[in-house]
Amino acid sequence: MIKVVKFGGSSLASSEQFKKVANIIKAEDSRRYIVPSAPGKRFSDDIKVTDMLYECYSLAAKGKDYKASLENIKKRYYEIINELGMDLSLENEFKIMEACFVGRAGRDYAASRGEYLNGIVLANYLGYEFIDAAEVIFFDDNGNFDDERTNEVLSERLSDIEKAVIPGFYGAMPNDTIKTFSRGGSDVTGSIVAKAVKADVYENWTDVSGFLIADPRIIDNPKVITTITYKELRELAYMGATVLHEDAIFPVRKEGIPINIRNTNAPEDMGTMIVESTSMKPEFTITGIAGKKGFTAVNIEKDMMNSELGFCRKVLEEFEKYGISIEHMPSGIDTMSVLVHQEEFGQKEQEILAGIHRNAHPDTIDIESDIALIAIVGRGMRAQRGTAGRIFSALAHAHVNVKMIDQGSSELNIIVGVTEEDFAKAIKAIYDIFVTVKL
Ligand code: ADP
Ligand code: ASP
Ligand code: MG
Repeated sequence: MIKVVKFGGSSLASSEQFKKVANIIKAEDSRRYIVPSAPGKRFSDDIKVTDMLYECYSLAAKGKDYKASLENIKKRYYEIINELGMDLSLENEFKIMEACFVGRAGRDYAASRGEYLNGIVLANYLGYEFIDAAEVIFFDDNGNFDDERTNEVLSERLSDIEKAVIPGFYGAMPNDTIKTFSRGGSDVTGSIVAKAVKADVYENWTDVSGFLIADPRIIDNPKVITTITYKELRELAYMGATVLHEDAIFPVRKEGIPINIRNTNAPEDMGTMIVESTSMKPEFTITGIAGKKGFTAVNIEKDMMNSELGFCRKVLEEFEKYGISIEHMPSGIDTMSVLVHQEEFGQKEQEILAGIHRNAHPDTIDIESDIALIAIVGRGMRAQRGTAGRIFSALAHAHVNVKMIDQGSSELNIIVGVTEEDFAKAIKAIYDIFVTVKL
């Protein structure tokens, strides 16, 4: 049995957390390949080392005084090293890092040092071999993850190493510069390593006891989802349930390797199993709820729109021209709405509107900002009648005005758009009707 175990930032934020992590690893011999994040928050308004590194790099690259900022980063590591009673100096590493910051080695290089250094500390603490991710995780010339080359090199490298620590979040470009995944990307590294060693399970250790039905920052003590499919998880992760990076399922998905989300602070909890498919019936009609703020709806009206060939295409072309991706597109006979990310769209707004007017000649275009989208996801919804009805009556009872509805063709999810003001209220109402009341 081989397990790849990834520990998130809060699991490795202090010496106390390091001890818990070591206990977890040592508890099972199969926990052979360890993927650490950079030290995260020790308390709620603490700063993650990754963010400290971005800040320090930005000062150094601008030629400003970065010394105090660098000292604070060093302190984070030395606090852990000293409190664990380790005999390890990172001075040489810090010297190289400082020179690279001043020499403008790039923001990605800077951020990657968080996991790189933490990997060195953890490998030393465990007595495991340290493998620099830059030697085994690769991107192509366009900056896309190079699956083939990585899998070849990484599986070969790990084939004769019994136990190793491979830092998360980064890899190397063909020209040997460092590139990171997007934020939270250590989850992706863990998945890549799991695929390379053909792991039996990929354990992702964090600070909650699994994937919860809703965001614990919105719902008090939400219930844990025991089993969730990759598809459901992807919908939820994409819509803001950030427990696991939305891309983390791809490497393991085709290999049939389940992901097990576990809690470093409560290792006895079994957490959530993320699987390809399951015969396990979900406890509730819905599996989970997630949502995101920051959307704009571009509402377009034109009489007889439905009979005008190519109208949609002409509208969408304008968004494509300016590189704006479209989130949802509910439509009526004479109306269509295009939902886009507010920030992205805002920068190109006038050009796009002018383009639509010029190309598609609509009667009116109306813009509505500050919209939040909420995804209600569940493999059980297909078999249940009236799910949408229950959602809307719950929202109506809570006095939430629904701006938009979209049901995915797989019947795996229903998306509702509400004003940002109603966001938390709407999630609470939906959670209550399906989970608390269990309708
Ligand atoms: P790590 O540092 O271990 O990678 P993250 O902060 O990336 O951890 O992810 C865990 C956090 O995700 C939790 O502390 C929680 O606040 C947040 N979260 C948001 N939605 C959910 C959800 N549906 N289930 C569990 N956690 C969630
Ligand atoms: N340390 C990185 C971040 O803060 C990557 C990760 O934690 O997964 O985003
Ligand atoms: Mg994370």
